Amino acid sequence: MSNNTILSDLVDSLKCLPGVGPKSALRLAYHLLQRDRLGANQLSITISKALDKLNACDLCNNFTESKICSLCESTSRDDSLLCIVEMPTDLLMMEQTHSFKGHYYVLMGRLSPLDGIGPKELNLSKLIDRIKKSNFKEIIIATNFTSEGNATAQYIKDILTNTNFKVTRIARGLPMGGEIEYVDSGTLAQALEDRKNI
Ligand code: ZN
Repeated sequence: MSNNTILSDLVDSLKCLPGVGPKSALRLAYHLLQRDRLGANQLSITISKALDKLNACDLCNNFTESKICSLCESTSRDDSLLCIVEMPTDLLMMEQTHSFKGHYYVLMGRLSPLDGIGPKELNLSKLIDRIKKSNFKEIIIATNFTSEGNATAQYIKDILTNTNFKVTRIARGLPMGGEIEYVDSGTLAQALEDRKNI
């Protein structure tokens, strides 16, 4: 029966993937074991390598292999602009618009009191530290237009009230409840273009 234990461990582990329930986990496990053993091996190696080598950039909080990521180190970015996004995928989408040349900060999530994610869990003090030590003139908040994304934007805006930073929010060119990751780059570019004071 020891085989079954290993199999159920694998199925349980796969359930950590978003949107993967018991049935899909089992399907994935069979696929990896039967149809793609090479791919499965590669996956297990790269996952443990990524866990071992990738850490948060000291400045933007995005994943990097070094202390400071290449985007933060780049001298061709506009040092007066900081764009705050929820996830690395949002940063990639922003970059694909080619319409933003400033710096980024990746929250790696959003405030979500129901899930127990408050300012402390989100480590917002790292963001505030970054901003206070910077020469940014404008802080663009590009969190999602979901209730949690909006609440996060409001929270950051409140912290920055009475500072010299101009705080803006990207405009609502995005659909309500829309997530930046799934929006086409034209819409996203427009939203960035139409940002306004909040
Ligand atoms: Zn960085």
